[in-house]
Amino acid sequence: MQQNPYRRMLLVFLAWMLLPLTGLAQQVPSELVVYPNLIVHNAKIVTMDDYDINTNLGSTFQAVAVRDKRIFKLGTNQEILRLAGPDTVRIDAKGRTVIPGVINVHTHIHDGAMNKWVDANPNTTAVKVFRVPGKDRVEIRRNLEVLMKERMGNIKPGQWSFFYLPNPAFGTGGGEGYDFLRQEDMTAQQIDEITGLEKPVLLAAHPAYIINTAAMNQLEKIYGGKTEDYPEGWTEAGFADLGVEYRREVVVDGYFGDKTDQLKEILHGGLLENSAAGITTFSSHIMGIQNLDAYMRLFRENRLPIRFAFTHYTGFVMNRDAEGFYRRMGDLFQLGNEYMWFQAIGLGMIDHGPPLFCSTMIDLESLAEEGKKEDYYEWCRYSKETKNYKTIVTALSNGSRVVAGHNYGDLSADHYMDAIEEAMEKSPEITLDYIRSLRLSMDHGGLYPRPDQLPRIKKLGMFLGMGSAALSRSLPWIQKYGFEKYQGWVMPTKRALEAGIKVAWEGEGGVGNGLFSLMTPFITRRNKQGLIIAADQAVDRNTVLKMATVWGSEYLMKEDELGSLEPGKFADLLVLNQDYFSVPVEEIDHIYPLLTVMGGEIRYLRDEYAQELGMDPVGYQLRYSWER
Ligand SMILES: [Zn+2]
Repeated sequence: MQQNPYRRMLLVFLAWMLLPLTGLAQQVPSELVVYPNLIVHNAKIVTMDDYDINTNLGSTFQAVAVRDKRIFKLGTNQEILRLAGPDTVRIDAKGRTVIPGVINVHTHIHDGAMNKWVDANPNTTAVKVFRVPGKDRVEIRRNLEVLMKERMGNIKPGQWSFFYLPNPAFGTGGGEGYDFLRQEDMTAQQIDEITGLEKPVLLAAHPAYIINTAAMNQLEKIYGGKTEDYPEGWTEAGFADLGVEYRREVVVDGYFGDKTDQLKEILHGGLLENSAAGITTFSSHIMGIQNLDAYMRLFRENRLPIRFAFTHYTGFVMNRDAEGFYRRMGDLFQLGNEYMWFQAIGLGMIDHGPPLFCSTMIDLESLAEEGKKEDYYEWCRYSKETKNYKTIVTALSNGSRVVAGHNYGDLSADHYMDAIEEAMEKSPEITLDYIRSLRLSMDHGGLYPRPDQLPRIKKLGMFLGMGSAALSRSLPWIQKYGFEKYQGWVMPTKRALEAGIKVAWEGEGGVGNGLFSLMTPFITRRNKQGLIIAADQAVDRNTVLKMATVWGSEYLMKEDELGSLEPGKFADLLVLNQDYFSVPVEEIDHIYPLLTVMGGEIRYLRDEYAQELGMDPVGYQLRYSWER
């Protein structure tokens, strides 16, 4: 291309004129001058750069400059705005609060997105969903039979039918539908007699499930092997595992088995929704093997709007040789890039959650002593002697980071720690320092830690993930076994922190009520049934935000890159509609981000704020339940 000599001369002249003004007296070549791509100013920026267990929020600033995905500089409006170049996007926060992007250490965005898709597409060939009413087991049976006989005529061979039996609200588990399945009021054979051998059927009342022969055949076709081939001490557990998964996996691995691109777009939609809610990093195990392929495509296309710390657990699930699998897999910790990386091996359902939780509240050990091992394993799926337990020991001994992505009861926490200590006893390389360096973790805090478990958790250098759903899910069970005695075992955030154990925030489930509504219960201890559970375990709002930012980054072992707003760290930040730190507690639920920045890029700009700024909205325009 020919250069216009006059234009070039003009540029040189202008550059020469500007030199003294911009202070570039050292004659720095212009291509070396890189301006910030984004400046947020006129803000109350709370950096959260204090990692200690206290209520300090760290430094605050007025403005932040972002360059090349990362925080470049923080300072006063004047200090930062003078760094702006011709292409720098300036966001005037108009005095609003800015915090680091929220880290959600335990959620399954893919499941939420898939459940939504199934609900929105009830008549696809993927699956037909039927809701079975009934106030007792006799009524459930009658309604179920009528539905099966009348409505399954239109189902094509190979197409799944899900029958959802009554399940109590808030995930508390139990109830008539659960009892119906547990008591085998209808067996697989009886379903076969009504539905035939061509149409796969699942009856579900979490965590109880039954499938018919056609369904079993389909699963064997998808995953290979036969469920009855599971080794001893694994059969029941393996079967139950399959049960929990069926609803999602059948759709993901069956229907979407050859539609990965469509699945990818469904996941992308879920990610955008969570980005709009303020999450910039999440961690999760993947249920449904195709989901991983779909994530990988988004990863390669560089389209992940949220960072994904991926926890691998498919080796535990539906694997007849989990030990061998993890012996061969080795250490993949942190493989990947800043958008998606291998976080850990996650355990499958270490216990199911209510009502099948592994806890010393219930006299379960006697089941094992009475020789009712199968029953015991169904409650406590990672107890000594199980394949699961041996697999943890093997995986840890082979250099893998193994975390309990899911456990509900205190006894399952004991079992997990037993396995860690057994790995230490077995191999001299697995020292206490090494174990501490892994920062192993346990999630949910459903009914643990017991007070006497805290020193052991602290000694092993572990982190805890806690989600406020536990306050509601555990209620009927602490009521059953002793409210006064056990309420303090439900999500005991304060006691854990006082013992020097850091707790990371988890917000399992959707974001339709807003992200902050999943944080408030840590402050109020109020559950969805309207009761206060262990008021003495309440923490203040600053602590909750530390859980959701800096301690979350430590839980993920990414504190050098994420969690706080400091120069050099990734620019993941939110502009909030209201000041989280000063609104009355009852208004925290309705706080939401107007802007989500991840990796220095605007991933979400809410329409109302876009209008204010004279810009176009960005990302999925999420509307919360209270707005609709
Ligand atoms: Zn989970």
